[in-house]
Amino acid sequence: MGAHLADVHIAAMGFEKIIPRAEHLGVYLRLLARSATGQPITTFSSHFHRPRPDQEMHIVIVDNGRSRQLGRPDFRNSLKCIRCAACMNTCPVYRRSGGHSYHSAVAGPIGSILAPNLDMKQNADLPFASTLCGSCSNVCPVKIDIHDQLYKWRQVLMQEGYGPTAKTMSMKAMATVLESPRLYRMAGKVGRGVLRFAPVTVENRFNPWYNQREMPEPPTESFRDWYVNNKKA
Ligand code: SF4
Repeated sequence: MGAHLADVHIAAMGFEKIIPRAEHLGVYLRLLARSATGQPITTFSSHFHRPRPDQEMHIVIVDNGRSRQLGRPDFRNSLKCIRCAACMNTCPVYRRSGGHSYHSAVAGPIGSILAPNLDMKQNADLPFASTLCGSCSNVCPVKIDIHDQLYKWRQVLMQEGYGPTAKTMSMKAMATVLESPRLYRMAGKVGRGVLRFAPVTVENRFNPWYNQREMPEPPTESFRDWYVNNKKA
């Protein structure tokens, strides 16, 4: 009614919503309804071809970072999204937390790909809130490689320096240890010793990781030592 009675009809749309011809609309409407609610076709959709006599119609085509996303070869595929929300409904993370717990206008796995394009600093945490299980990519009706793009965003964000400092430093330390067999063996020995003789360093209420878990018994020797000993025998 609002569109029909008003003298001026102003509609806004993102530029990725343009389809080749009107005859292709049926394909998109069916895809949308089927993937969003499991219906064969939408129960309601409005079509405007031109303004009625004495009415003005204006269409505002919005960019808002879309051309920037189009220029990112790894992420341009995300612009195919038809906002059906199938990826959010199947996601083991978003299915439990809901979309609004993640501070971005477009919620769900696809929102975590679109949001860092708009503001990397503010949305740097979103691509990391994923198990990368791939369920989103499986259900996406327009075949967006969602979990691959989430993984790629993680790499871009860390390279651009938007990772948390503690995580960046601990990953660097871990890389140093994993690069050197000697350091790796020594770190294993120290870790087993700490867990056995001073478990309180890990098992304390200030360690949020421990609060959610039960610690396993620390092994007395590393797998390498066990292998060397048993190989001789
Ligand atoms: S990314 Fe795919 S599954 Fe997710 S809302 Fe967009 S079209 Fe639907």
